[in-house]
Amino acid sequence: MASSAIAPTSTPFTSKFQKDEGLSAFSSQPSFSIQNSKKTVSRKIVSVVAPQQSERRPSTTGPVKTAMTMTEKILARASEKPQLSPGENVWVNVDILMTHDICGPASFGIFKREFGQNAKVWDREKIVIIPDHYIFTNDERANRNVDILRELCLEQNIKYFYDITDLGNFKANLDYKGVCHVALAQEGHCRPGEILLGTDSHTCTAGAFGQFATGIGNTDAGFVLGTGKLLLKVPPTLRFVMDGEMPNYLLAKDLILQIIGEISLSGATYKSMEFVGTTVESLTMEERMTLCNMVVEAGGKNGVIPADRTTYKYLEDKTSVPYEPVYSDEQARFLSEYRFDVSKLEPLVAKPYSPENRSLARECKDVKIDRVYIGSCTGGKTEDFMAAAKIFMASGKKVKVPTFLVPATQKVWMDIYSLPVPGSGGKTCSQIFEEAGCDTPASPSCGACMGGPRDTHARMNEPQVCVSTTNRNFPGRMGHKEGQIYLASPYTAAASALTGFVTDPREFLQ
Ligand code: SF4
Repeated sequence: MASSAIAPTSTPFTSKFQKDEGLSAFSSQPSFSIQNSKKTVSRKIVSVVAPQQSERRPSTTGPVKTAMTMTEKILARASEKPQLSPGENVWVNVDILMTHDICGPASFGIFKREFGQNAKVWDREKIVIIPDHYIFTNDERANRNVDILRELCLEQNIKYFYDITDLGNFKANLDYKGVCHVALAQEGHCRPGEILLGTDSHTCTAGAFGQFATGIGNTDAGFVLGTGKLLLKVPPTLRFVMDGEMPNYLLAKDLILQIIGEISLSGATYKSMEFVGTTVESLTMEERMTLCNMVVEAGGKNGVIPADRTTYKYLEDKTSVPYEPVYSDEQARFLSEYRFDVSKLEPLVAKPYSPENRSLARECKDVKIDRVYIGSCTGGKTEDFMAAAKIFMASGKKVKVPTFLVPATQKVWMDIYSLPVPGSGGKTCSQIFEEAGCDTPASPSCGACMGGPRDTHARMNEPQVCVSTTNRNFPGRMGHKEGQIYLASPYTAAASALTGFVTDPREFLQ
């Protein structure tokens, strides 16, 4: 399938779609008019088949003089301003700063250089430190980074340090969690209406909770450590309205690959991506996290989903911190709005070497693969493994290529070994994976998602072809620079493992 791109409009806040020309759901090319502009630009969108407007909620930020988007409202509140517009630079009060073993030592180094060797962090209870990237390795420099974090957390009396002291048995480390973005959610650090910054580009994952969450560099993190504030430019917002019933062979990974394929790798550069619509409302929190996780692959500053009952339910047993959600106003100004009829979408992959290199899974059925990887903050959550198990169970066959399983967190690992898979007669994921001939689930961490030291579990040390539930497929991302990564949903990854080729999961689900 030809990949289509929607170039961002150069005229802020005034674009709107005209009526669909009625072509097929995947190739329609409606006119796209830009008000106040003499040019009419023809662009592709996925589908605008009578989308239903999702219910909009009223503002919770008091009387609104000028309508704002969710992101603008969160930034307004965090900067103690009644009103904000895209492009303004504001100092925001940070609710949570997260850092990990790769960036933590450098961030603290900058903090100490600028604030003094004996300086104390601004708030020991608002800093979350999560070793997760290069953990189960004998690499001395990687291990040293965790040691440095341990010394710093002790010195600064950091409340939330999810330490690991015994690399030989992660289960003996009750504090150890695993991949930061999933751990942040599971430990109740993601809350609607707040500002969460992290020294990791996929910090945007937490936008699933209706908060402003974005990745920052070590220098900014050093400043936040000392002050609890950061200067941010207010991004304009792109709105993605996803309506229609989600087919049983699709997962949120397919939705975000669809979007990135539409708008390109730079289509949302320094923009907020707001996801609404009946489909989004039907998604679980883990699936919403998958959607927001990859907004940065389109250049997005943040992704955000309005909080609702699903959000509140998830948070019930995770936090006692009061939070106040905000919602986009009815008249909020969006830079562009994209509408999707999800019922017409098909399982997708992103081919090497870019997440925007979208293709239908069925169009890649001749691509022979060497391995499958199920893991990461994108595709290593409990529901991702449940989805993979569902495919293995439906087929009753064994995998044809090595299939590596890396749970994102210790909780996910436990779920794999304890939760029954629906429709399996009480079997757990781990039992189903064993019967299918998969690799034993590894210790929870980032694993080989970002390559890592050469002894990292499941690292691609040879120039192989891999179907992976991770989020990036640039050269060298999972190890070998000539390795080829096909990004896919857990359904598609599991189906591909069973055939040894990139495979549309409908082969096993229908
Ligand atoms: S799992 Fe991968 S993408 Fe996610 S935080 Fe770790 S290295 Fe980054």
